[in-house]
Amino acid sequence: MEKQVVEVTINQAKLRIIQGDITKQDTDAIVNAANSSLMGSGGVDGAIHRTGGPAILEECKQIVARQGHLPTGKAVMTTGGNLKARHVIHTVGPIWYGGDKGEPELLASAYQESLKLAMGNQLFSISFPSISTGAYGYPVAKASRLAIGTVIASLRQSVTSVREVVFVLFDSQTFRAYSSALKEIIGTSNEKD
Ligand code: ADP
Repeated sequence: MEKQVVEVTINQAKLRIIQGDITKQDTDAIVNAANSSLMGSGGVDGAIHRTGGPAILEECKQIVARQGHLPTGKAVMTTGGNLKARHVIHTVGPIWYGGDKGEPELLASAYQESLKLAMGNQLFSISFPSISTGAYGYPVAKASRLAIGTVIASLRQSVTSVREVVFVLFDSQTFRAYSSALKEIIGTSNEKD
C-alpha cells in the first residue's frame, strides 16, 4: 500500500516521502507527535503506544518524573518496545493559534531537536510523521514546507550519522502536500551538491 514517489539526496543523506503507517517503519527511530504529558493520546501517538506496547509508556513516565512535562519544541528518546524501530523520539509540536504565537519556530524546533537526538545517538535512519497537522490544527501546506525546509537545512549544516530521513504521511492529502513542498523547495527531483 506504501508508494514511494519522491526522494532527494542532501549531502550524504536520502530524504524520502512516502504514504503509509509510521508504526510499520524499520528506521532506527520513528518520531512521535506527542503531547507534553507524554502519556499517549489519539492520532499517531495512540498508534505508536498501541503497537509499541507498555515499555514505551513506562519510559515516558520515568522521563516526566525526572524532568517534568516536555515543553513544546523539545524532544526525548525512549525504547521502541515492540516496534520494528529500536527507538521512539517523542517531540511536542505547537497547537495552531493562527500563526503569530511562535508556531513556525516551535514546529521547526520539534524537527531540529528530534534530528539532534538522532545525530547525538549516532542513528542512521529516522521517520517523521506530519507533526502538528492533526489534532493540533497546523495548516498542512504551511507545515509541510516548514518541515521539509527545516530537515534539509539541518542535513546541509551538520556532519551527521543520519543517512536516511523518511516522512511517513498517513493520508493522501498530507502526502500530496509534502510531495509538492519538496518539489517546490528542491526544484528538481534530485539534488546535486
Ligand atoms: P498532532 O497532535 O501533532 O496534530 P496527530 O497525531 O493528531 O498529531 O496528527 C499528526 C499527523 O499524523 C496527521 O497527519 C495524522 O493523520 C497522522 N497519523 C495518524 N496516525 C498515523 C500513523 N499511524 N502513521 C503516520 N501518521 C499518522
